[in-house]
Amino acid sequence: MIRRLLARLLPGRRTRDPRVYGPDRHRVRRDQLSNAARSVTQKLQEAGFKAFIVGGAVRDLLLDIEPKDFDLATDATPEQVKPLFRRAFIIGRRFRLVHVHVGNEVIEVSTFRAAQTGADATDEHGRLLSDNVYGSQAEDAARRDFTINALYFDPATESIWDYVGGFVDIRARRLKLIGPPVTRYREDPVRMLRAVRLATKLSLSIETRTGEPIPRLAPLMSNVPPARLFDEMQKLLLSGHALETLRSLRAHGLSHGLLPLLDVILEQPFGQKFIDAALAGTDARVREGKGVSPAFLFATLLWHEVLATWNAAKERGERPLPALFDAMDKVLSAQAERIAIPRRFEATIKEIWSLQPRFEQRAGSRPARLMEHPRFRAAYDFLALRGESGEAPQSLVDWWTRFQDADEAEREAMLRPEEAPKKRRRPRGRGRKREPGAGNETGPAPEGGA
Ligand code: ATP
Ligand code: MG
Repeated sequence: MIRRLLARLLPGRRTRDPRVYGPDRHRVRRDQLSNAARSVTQKLQEAGFKAFIVGGAVRDLLLDIEPKDFDLATDATPEQVKPLFRRAFIIGRRFRLVHVHVGNEVIEVSTFRAAQTGADATDEHGRLLSDNVYGSQAEDAARRDFTINALYFDPATESIWDYVGGFVDIRARRLKLIGPPVTRYREDPVRMLRAVRLATKLSLSIETRTGEPIPRLAPLMSNVPPARLFDEMQKLLLSGHALETLRSLRAHGLSHGLLPLLDVILEQPFGQKFIDAALAGTDARVREGKGVSPAFLFATLLWHEVLATWNAAKERGERPLPALFDAMDKVLSAQAERIAIPRRFEATIKEIWSLQPRFEQRAGSRPARLMEHPRFRAAYDFLALRGESGEAPQSLVDWWTRFQDADEAEREAMLRPEEAPKKRRRPRGRGRKREPGAGNETGPAPEGGA
């Protein structure tokens, strides 16, 4: 009795005994889980293991939001989990978890883990280098980021196990880090990004102690591996609340250095409008359940960086198209040092950018050929955003909007007369005879993109 009381009072030990909230205390029911989540939990429990739905899904259900996916935590090791299922795969080398496939769903099953301690557990900034030590359920709760992300739902009893006070924090709509904030941010600076992202997405207030150190510790973000940053950035940008979240990131001093010069971009008159328009469009699509292309989004976020670099080169007298390709490469490689944009996106990003000058060519067969380009649609949407922000002429966007819908005869009438090539001091290419209609308007078209 006294020991339990003491355990309650001593802060370090508070995490030992969970508070268990039965179904009379909340409205989360097992039929809100996916079939796969239910059956995998049940199978593990029948085999004698503990198994709970944990993390984002429990949090979302308590907030009346439909979860994106279901993660499962268990005391079974990956080797014990795998043989229980027909299609289960152990993934990860450093930190191993099991992906159980049921129908077309994948349930991520992770074994309870403890936060690692000791001198060689962190780097010189306090960043945790690994978290692959198995532990108790209480330890598993304590190593998670926010109290509301550390709730465990048992489908069998429909009860929620809470080791860290997350249940009341959800009721209070309060985002609170588990443990001492400065240490927890040093362990993993991405938690700062997550705090702002989750608070915005879920309309929670960030508890004072949790929010206070963020501006001060923001520089630690530069120590996060680019691939992780990309994952979190992508979540943020595809959350349906990107615009609001980026604003909030800026308010917390976190935007700096994430996408290089995002701050500078947002301060340029066109850049601000352009990104606002792009993000508002993306947010609307996400909320309507439509697909969003990360490549398109990253293309928009970096466009004004490309423009600035490109314009500077043109002012130095470089030829427009090679200068554009140069600028694209420069911006993407500067970016790669901070956020690793996967290669498969890079090709698309470059195509969207490199097609932009081709929209200016409205004579002859060029418009029709441009429309056949596989990235035409994305490039046209991109042009529309440029128009909306005032960086490209709205009349150009309107022309393309009409041209796409027009029939053959109308198109013919819309085409611009071929212009004589601009006077060059040293005309290049084979045909030096300046026949009207035979020249290029703005130099060679970047046929085929990057
Ligand atoms: P979302 O709904 O956006 O996916 P989430 O909370 O589910 O939010 P995940 O990245 O899927 O986010 O993480 C699942 C769980 O893992 C979290 O709920 C949290 O308990 C834990 N977690 C995730 N990232 C961290 C972190 N950086 N530090 C500690 N725990 C974390
Ligand atoms: Mg999740």
